[in-house]
Amino acid sequence: MKLVLIGPPSVGKGTCAKALSAKYGIPHISTGSLFREEVAKSTEFGKLIKQYVDNGLLVPDELVLPFVFKKLLEPNCSKGFILDGFPRTLNQAIALDAFTKIDAAILLDAPLEVIIERALGRLVCPKCGAIYNTQWKPPRYDNICDNCGSRLEKRSDDNPEILKQRYKLYLETFQPIINYYRTKNLLVKVDASKPTDEVIREIEKILVEKGLISNISAYN
Ligand code: AMP
Repeated sequence: MKLVLIGPPSVGKGTCAKALSAKYGIPHISTGSLFREEVAKSTEFGKLIKQYVDNGLLVPDELVLPFVFKKLLEPNCSKGFILDGFPRTLNQAIALDAFTKIDAAILLDAPLEVIIERALGRLVCPKCGAIYNTQWKPPRYDNICDNCGSRLEKRSDDNPEILKQRYKLYLETFQPIINYYRTKNLLVKVDASKPTDEVIREIEKILVEKGLISNISAYN
């Protein structure tokens, strides 16, 4: 199962990808999370990309592509992967296609109000990467991760100013990617303004239709 999740920032790509990854044992590769980790650890790569990530700008392809393809060559990706946040440019989509053939590109779509609401309520666990939302999916105890007990944080780029920049960039770049996957008959659109469980169920129905899973696992 080689999937690509596309959609505006904070539409819920990470939440859906994590759930599908846990249910079907396919690794979730979020370029944004991996990049934030590199920045937080101040690795050589992290230092190169920090200015872009902190300001909601696209990391240049010459840095992104080798990084992603190295990940996809790791043994845990041999049965497939769920890419979240990649491709972000037509050039990345074309490069991915040359590297490997994907099975579906799932476009998670929602109106701007939903996106802003989700971004402003989003909390992430810096240790295990779990994603919460103060309104939609609050942690059991205020600001504490249900999984590992760490203190939850807001993403620094989830502030209204940077979010506006990230959304503007998405609008400027997403159409060619969508056209590209539509032409290849790989694009499927899902209404992501619904509650997360329903969105995940929708994606699972698509995976069944495409023969990528035989039935929807009962495990949640
Ligand atoms: P995300 O968590 O997907 O919203 O990504 C956070 C930030 O990481 C983005 O605002 C970009 O600065 C960078 N980023 C993530 N994925 C990519 C990509 N495929 N190409 C370029 N920059 C990216």
